[in-house]
Amino acid sequence: MSRRSTSQRRAIREAIEHADRPLDANEVLTAAATEIDNLGIATVYRTLKLGVEEGWLIPVELPNAPTRFEMAGKKHHHHFECRQCQRVFEVHGCPGNLKPLVPEGFALEDHEVILYGLCAECAAGKPSKG
Ligand SMILES: [Zn+2]
Ligand SMILES: [Zn+2]
Repeated sequence: MSRRSTSQRRAIREAIEHADRPLDANEVLTAAATEIDNLGIATVYRTLKLGVEEGWLIPVELPNAPTRFEMAGKKHHHHFECRQCQRVFEVHGCPGNLKPLVPEGFALEDHEVILYGLCAECAAGKPSKG
């Protein structure tokens, strides 16, 4: 692996680590481009795919939204999508035991909870930084 691709990879990884919320490919590009000149979206996509294959990245799939990526190994958490700026944030916490919702005879294996609304910046009427 060339030195250039190693540094691109490191910049992309650090961008996601420091974001503290799942990023889509364009957000990764914006964040990592401050570190790496001439970083292209194709490289970002390739690195994200590799990260998932290697197990250090987790794809976050929300309905009708581009795939976001977060670091693997986080504690159980959920997500909040801002309807105005479209950013996705981590929600720490969980409604907990959802078994009472499950029809009789069904075996619950997993759950996903997505909250929708306005992030603090949008709720305060501030322009989002993207
Ligand atoms: Zn927002
Ligand atoms: Zn949960």
